[in-house]
Amino acid sequence: MQTDELASPVETDALVIGAGPVGLYLVFQLGLQGIRAHVLDTLRHAGGQPVELYGDKPIYDIPGLPACTGQELADRLLQQVAPFQPAFHFGQLVAAIERLADNWFVVSTDKGLTFRTRSVFIAAGVGAFLPKKLALAELAPFEDTQVLYHPPEALDVTGQHIVIAGGDQAALEWAIQLAERPAARAARSITLLHRRDVLQVDEHTLARWHELLREGLVSFVVGQIKGVLQSDGPHRTMTGLHISHPDGTESNCVADRLVVLQGISPKLGPLSNWGLAMSRKQLTVDTSTFATSQPGIFAIGDIVHYPGKKKLLACGFHEGVLAAFGAAEFLHPERTGPLEYTSSSQRLQQLLGVSGPA
Ligand SMILES: Cc1cc2nc3c(=O)[nH]c(=O)nc-3n(C[C@H](O)[C@H](O)[C@H](O)COP(=O)(O)OP(=O)(O)OC[C@H]3O[C@@H](n4cnc5c(N)ncnc54)[C@H](O)[C@@H]3O)c2cc1C
Repeated sequence: MQTDELASPVETDALVIGAGPVGLYLVFQLGLQGIRAHVLDTLRHAGGQPVELYGDKPIYDIPGLPACTGQELADRLLQQVAPFQPAFHFGQLVAAIERLADNWFVVSTDKGLTFRTRSVFIAAGVGAFLPKKLALAELAPFEDTQVLYHPPEALDVTGQHIVIAGGDQAALEWAIQLAERPAARAARSITLLHRRDVLQVDEHTLARWHELLREGLVSFVVGQIKGVLQSDGPHRTMTGLHISHPDGTESNCVADRLVVLQGISPKLGPLSNWGLAMSRKQLTVDTSTFATSQPGIFAIGDIVHYPGKKKLLACGFHEGVLAAFGAAEFLHPERTGPLEYTSSSQRLQQLLGVSGPA
């Protein structure tokens, strides 16, 4: 379903910002209304907070599901929405929304994707999940080339000196998968750099890490980056890092690539500049349709505020239902008919692909 390489601008009826649980359920409800959506998220996967913040922890208050983990909830929502074939675009931060004279919107991302859409749905939760960056200006010129915050899984590291900054599960798993690559694709050196000598990982990962350390396939440096070593000449490249250690000593470390995996944190980001009415840093909405102050832009989930709002999954799902009905009325007023049930409507069942033609 991932479609990253698109000719911009993409034209669509509906564009959803946020592939968290509420955004996913909204896409399902839009599907029942006959509206196919494009979905954008800064993360590399769907699921929002339940996957990022409590993926392996149980949730007990989803209607009809006595217990499921955050990851399981996301998997089930993706399975439910699959018949409507939404187009997901991951690793994309929505940077701007502009209304055109014909009342369509142009939505653009930090990676240069542009959409022309008739309606926009903001399901941005507590903000865009973005990687925590290293606070060292000297690294900025090398970002996306030698300094990577979103390393692609198949990153080519052949013959290179790789430094991984971080000390949690994601950083260790990355270091381990690099160390386990076949000789033909192997890095020249793999160094894990963390400010403390305590690693926050599960037992199995820690055991594997110690094996690789003993075999000399990886090394571990405790310290913080204080500077960047660079090549001379007009086209500067990063050649290494200057590191300070907790005992007050300093050293240099060769680095062709620095992969930073220090976790993620949500940032409200550009959303506050989109000219929408807000209260307490959240979007205010009409609770009958979840329309924002701008016709054609709807908002649901943790990002909205209204009297009595509760930041709970069940509340967000309800908001998605009403937003989808509101959007159907906005986009296709001519189609409005009586309420139909998925349990009995052949039309809806056909849309879901669960019954033959009527
Ligand atoms: C630790 C914890 C436990 C919880 N347990 C429960 C529970 O047991 N039961 C319950 O009902 N609720 C629980 N919640 C609350 C629940 O997780 C939230 O209500 C729910 O995740 C809100 O869903 P959402 O889709 O609105 O937002 P989110 O889950 O935050 O998803 C929003 C998505 O939008 C993306 N995004 C935001 N801005 C942009 C942008 N500009 N461009 C691109 N993408 C963007 C983000 O990256 C994110 O993936 C818990 C929350 C936490 C933190």
